[in-house]
Amino acid sequence: MAERLVVVGGDAAGMAAASQARRRDPSLDIVALERGTRTSYSACGIPYLVAGDVESPDDLVARTPDEFRQEHRIDVRMRHEATAIDLDARTVEVRDLVHERTFRLGFDQLMVGTGARPIRPDLPGIDGPHIRGVQTLDDGCRMLGEARELECRDVVVVGSGFIGLEMAEAFVRWGAKVTMVEANERPMSRQLDPDVGDRLVTAVRGLGIDARFGEAVEGFEEGLVHTASGPLRADLVVLGLGVAPEATLAEEAGLELGTRGSIRVNRRQATSTPGVWAAGDCAETYHRVSQRRIHIALGTVANKTARIAGVNIGGGYATFPGVVGTAITKVCGTEVARTGLSTEEAERAGFATVSATVETTTIAGYLPDAQPMVVKAIAEQVTGRLLGMQIVGGSGAAKRIDTAATALSAEMTVDDVVELDLSYAPPFSSTWDPVQVAARVVAGKV
Ligand SMILES: Cc1cc2nc3c(=O)[nH]c(=O)nc-3n(C[C@H](O)[C@H](O)[C@H](O)COP(=O)(O)OP(=O)(O)OC[C@H]3O[C@@H](n4cnc5c(N)ncnc54)[C@H](O)[C@@H]3O)c2cc1C
Repeated sequence: MAERLVVVGGDAAGMAAASQARRRDPSLDIVALERGTRTSYSACGIPYLVAGDVESPDDLVARTPDEFRQEHRIDVRMRHEATAIDLDARTVEVRDLVHERTFRLGFDQLMVGTGARPIRPDLPGIDGPHIRGVQTLDDGCRMLGEARELECRDVVVVGSGFIGLEMAEAFVRWGAKVTMVEANERPMSRQLDPDVGDRLVTAVRGLGIDARFGEAVEGFEEGLVHTASGPLRADLVVLGLGVAPEATLAEEAGLELGTRGSIRVNRRQATSTPGVWAAGDCAETYHRVSQRRIHIALGTVANKTARIAGVNIGGGYATFPGVVGTAITKVCGTEVARTGLSTEEAERAGFATVSATVETTTIAGYLPDAQPMVVKAIAEQVTGRLLGMQIVGGSGAAKRIDTAATALSAEMTVDDVVELDLSYAPPFSSTWDPVQVAARVVAGKV
């Protein structure tokens, strides 16, 4: 009988691993369980669905269940939830949510791709209606449906991580009055140094978002969000406080957990039990600069780690080298990106740091379309090794972070970065690329 792979979770991690395993081993019997209504969707596209740039949720689906069934011979079971895993018996308990029946499914190999869940703060009234986090496309559709049904006028976004920022902008464009409440003094405070994060404050307010930084939420009541400075009207509350790994199923099964409760995996994405693999938002990964295990919930990482899991499930051999912590977003026309470690993260990892923040322009400053941009480079004080970079600026600024991400992967010093033969013509850049300008200034301090 063919070996059976059971996959739990039908989005980026689950289906990328399943597809890769199928490619490697045509004989595998693959069953994928997804409790929601769509497979392989782009949760990253949800803000653009809310804003109206994307017409239908189906446009965000890369591959439907039928495509997986027909083209990849994967037995995709929609609205099927894995409710327990028995690692000794090697079975998964499955609940068919449509027909309300429960059955067991045996496996030889198991791939866990259960993703993450939005953090819900333990505050009075948090279980009230219309307080929503967003992780899956079903969450996004439910939120949009609710906003339409309520003819929602006032939206309060709690937290200002990248999902909070993107959802705030989306609801402004949807037509709501948006208030953002953030306990820290600036947005994305875990990702950006304070001097860089400060540049975002103006951008957030620029679109008409009533951004309350340094103000914590104290509780919720129907139609109201309470903060220290009084109640705010809210037809809908969007939680943007980050996510936690969805690892309850794995934990209850007895799989070893790691950072922030994510599933511990080795470099092959193997868990603590042979033949059981995990990848994506539910799994731990490794930071190549801090050399520490971390939990990072990004689609880029989910796809890459799942590919590695799929190769190994299919009988190949592949290892994931880890991440350097690269992320990018756009807030109200201002682009933001970061890679490596922030100053605080670098110091926590034991590095003595030097840094430089430079103000420059996205293209040659004398051209009419030139827009301001700020680049911060962080290096190790004695060796000059690049440790991190952050960028905030106008159109064309943020994607330059990829040069720094590449330099981090190659463990370059800031001098190495200065010497890179990067492209230049006035419509694209200043003579020295902004990344190199920042590297050059910090090199002078090493
Ligand atoms: C609004 C938003 C914007 C984003 N923007 C970006 C971006 O710009 N760039 C970026 O890199 N990342 C972005 N992300 C993050 C990215 O979407 C996630 O990192 C990615 O979706 C993770 O994929 P995953 O497969 O690990 O988890 P998920 O996408 O969460 O998928 C897990 C799936 O498993 C299912 N599931 C869970 N438990 C069970 C169970 N017990 N049984 C059956 N099914 C189960 C869930 O229903 C879900 O469909 C964004 C996320 C959001 C919400």
